[in-house]
Amino acid sequence: MNESVTRSGYVALIGRPNVGKSTLLNALVGQKVSIVSPKPQTTRHRIVGILNGPGFQAAFLDTPGLHAGSRRRLNQAMNRAAMSSLADADLLLLVVDALRWTDEDAMVLERVRESGKPAVLVVNKADQVKPRERLLPTLERLSAMLDFEAVIPVSALKRHNLDRLVAVLPSLLPEGEPFYPPEQVTDRSERFLAAEIVREKLTRVLREELPYGLTVEIERWQEEDDGRLAIGAIIWVEREGQRRIVIGEGGQGLKEVGRAARLDINRMLGRRIHLELWVKVREHWADSEAALRQFGYDSG
Ligand code: GDP
Ligand code: MG
Repeated sequence: MNESVTRSGYVALIGRPNVGKSTLLNALVGQKVSIVSPKPQTTRHRIVGILNGPGFQAAFLDTPGLHAGSRRRLNQAMNRAAMSSLADADLLLLVVDALRWTDEDAMVLERVRESGKPAVLVVNKADQVKPRERLLPTLERLSAMLDFEAVIPVSALKRHNLDRLVAVLPSLLPEGEPFYPPEQVTDRSERFLAAEIVREKLTRVLREELPYGLTVEIERWQEEDDGRLAIGAIIWVEREGQRRIVIGEGGQGLKEVGRAARLDINRMLGRRIHLELWVKVREHWADSEAALRQFGYDSG
């Protein structure tokens, strides 16, 4: 334990889908704990990523983006996860895209205002603003929207200006002992992270064809005689047609997902693994509370 830690707290990353919350979390903790993709609504769970600095510990809560209402239960579970993080947090980081302000951003800003909690505005994707001077009027306009503790432009992707963001955190955290041991980076298990890595590769390989109702379940996690770890994962979809899409022509799609996921999981675990993927159909799972629970979605 670091004896000198005097400030610690939960810091929720709040924002609409796709502004870069998960990228920011991974950059802050220095490891991939939350998956990232160009597609909105990739993050479905609440994930803790832990940063230990001089005299402080920040436990970041990555959340699914708050998005406008949907009747599907999976979406409702995602919005609930985001709202509960907001309620539990000591400090909010409102993450927005430097280039785009939408109605969903305005909705999220309202939630932040209603919470009455201290908030830092993180203006992400600043690397995309050219020339750089164009950022100034944007920052001024956004600063006026709420009494933020600080307004900080960053690039989570390029890791620009993150030190400034980290520097403002300690004074905004409550006094207290750290919640997690210093070597811990996330609250999630290796199994969970492995399933998420498979899902990340699926979003990348399938892109626009990615079925909404797709989830990954680890069903085998076993030491092999040759010293490797055998991981078996089921990719659940909602319809037979989606199964064919995931497998791809001649199994190409699935092969590519398997190869990319295996490399990432090898790196995460620091050891060689053997990964097997199956694609199975379970109709309407994303509307079923029982299935949502089975697949690990926090239900209300
Ligand atoms: P989330 O939905 O808010 O968690 O967003 P993600 O972290 O999944 O990122 C969404 C997309 O924005 C991905 O394609 C990221 O690579 C991209 N992105 C995130 N941060 C930055 C950034 O600082 N600059 C640029 N140019 N792209 C970024
Ligand atoms: Mg995310």
